[in-house]
Amino acid sequence: MKRDPVKPKEIEPLLRAEGFDEVCFAYSEEEALNEASRCIQCKDPACISGCPVGIDIKKFILEITRKDYKSAYSTIREKNNFPAMCGRVCPAEYQCQKACVFSKKGEAFASEKAINIHFLERFVADFGMRNNLETAINRDKRLSDFKVAVVGSGPAGLCCAGELARKGVEVVMYEALHKPGGVLRYGIPPFRLPQNVLDFEIDYLKRMGVCIECNIIIGKTILLKELFDQGFSAVFLGLGAGVPSFLGIPGENLCNIYSANEFLTRVNLMGAYKFPKYHTPINIGKHIVVTGGGNTAMDAARVALRLQKLNKIPPDVTVFYRRTENEMPARRLEIHHAKEEGIKFEFLVQPIEFLNDNEKSSVKRIRSLRCKLGEPDDSGRRRPVPISGSEFEADCDEAVIAVGLKANRVLTQQTPELKIDKWSDIIVNSDTMETSIKAVYAGGDIVGGEGTVIEAMGMAQKASLAIMEYLLK
Ligand SMILES: Cc1cc2nc3c(=O)[nH]c(=O)nc-3n(C[C@H](O)[C@H](O)[C@H](O)COP(=O)(O)OP(=O)(O)OC[C@H]3O[C@@H](n4cnc5c(N)ncnc54)[C@H](O)[C@@H]3O)c2cc1C
Repeated sequence: MKRDPVKPKEIEPLLRAEGFDEVCFAYSEEEALNEASRCIQCKDPACISGCPVGIDIKKFILEITRKDYKSAYSTIREKNNFPAMCGRVCPAEYQCQKACVFSKKGEAFASEKAINIHFLERFVADFGMRNNLETAINRDKRLSDFKVAVVGSGPAGLCCAGELARKGVEVVMYEALHKPGGVLRYGIPPFRLPQNVLDFEIDYLKRMGVCIECNIIIGKTILLKELFDQGFSAVFLGLGAGVPSFLGIPGENLCNIYSANEFLTRVNLMGAYKFPKYHTPINIGKHIVVTGGGNTAMDAARVALRLQKLNKIPPDVTVFYRRTENEMPARRLEIHHAKEEGIKFEFLVQPIEFLNDNEKSSVKRIRSLRCKLGEPDDSGRRRPVPISGSEFEADCDEAVIAVGLKANRVLTQQTPELKIDKWSDIIVNSDTMETSIKAVYAGGDIVGGEGTVIEAMGMAQKASLAIMEYLLK
């Protein structure tokens, strides 16, 4: 190994928690060149198989070392239409970087010595964005006669639309919310994914000819069957998993208890942190408890802390998680950032009741049990086992519940022919992503349950290939 890994620079923790500016800086050219030069160009690069969309990582890193950033951009875009977004939010530590030859085999996460593929991708993507680079579009004339509807504009829908559009298919994308992007828009806060980056990636799609129709719920405003009546030859469903799970404990309906989805949507999509300039207010507690251990919990906690700081409330945000840090599904970087910014963590804690002061209907305290780890459950993680007699109470005048998301059933209830499993996820043929209805495909969180951005895109890419094959039959 020639050099030490190049650590990306970040805004200093106390400063960044004062606002919503992006936490991590992109690599400078010198940093990118140094990091890229650490790649030993393996003969059989495992990193590529660690990427759900199969970016030729080895090639684009070599192109960086040659300062040929334009080619590096084209190489990435061959497999991924949204590199600026993925270069910011991909959990590379579980994916490509974990497969890097410099990661230790059998470890749960990538080692610190692994090539920082994620930040190299972002470097190239930002170069492309700054220079308005366009990549070649290989339209297939035979496909230009076909119209495909894409339902949902999260990573799955965006990816499927992009893949089809660049081959010449006419694509109309329908989105229930008033802005496209799915979780990237309403869930992931701007200090991780700035809105202008998302806008750039979506504009890129529009430039490829994708038409985006917002404020339309397929299954309500327009039925699935009606899309075919309107002349669409195939439909892709990228509906996501937008319905929050709750703890199901007493007191959960008290005021100032939010699902993380509502909390983050109010802030990220509706601009609650800019109230009264934007019309959606949000309560900001003095003692905020976030329950959960995933990316959603980390985002909610860090947003809550920023809201306290913006409103001159002394920061006091605690994450309650029923396992230990090792079992947390959140990205390691996000946990690290949350700690640096002052988020407190209570591990091995299971909330059992929210309490008020009997006069008002707002939450005031949270009662919990301490836990220990037991045998592994179906997910392979050790199960939390509550310890009897370990009950304790803590101040909590605002709570955010981030314990998982489930499928929204608006469309599937309206369409009984669409087969779903016991979690209400859509059942597909895993080779083609085709559903139980002919010419209707699905991918992303609505198929596998909560996953990652790039996994959603991987499924959408597979579906787009199957759709094109179907159209050309
Ligand atoms: C707060 C949060 C943070 C996360 N952080 C990360 C991260 O850092 N890295 C990572 O890889 N993953 C992260 N994830 C997970 C990741 O965002 C999801 O796996 C991904 O967004 C799934 O993509 P999708 O396209 O399937 O669904 P979504 O992004 O949920 O998009 C679905 C879209 O479909 C629309 N829709 C639904 N039903 C209809 C309908 N009937 N008609 C029209 N439109 C409809 C919805 O409004 C939504 O816009 C995070 C998730 C959350 C909630």
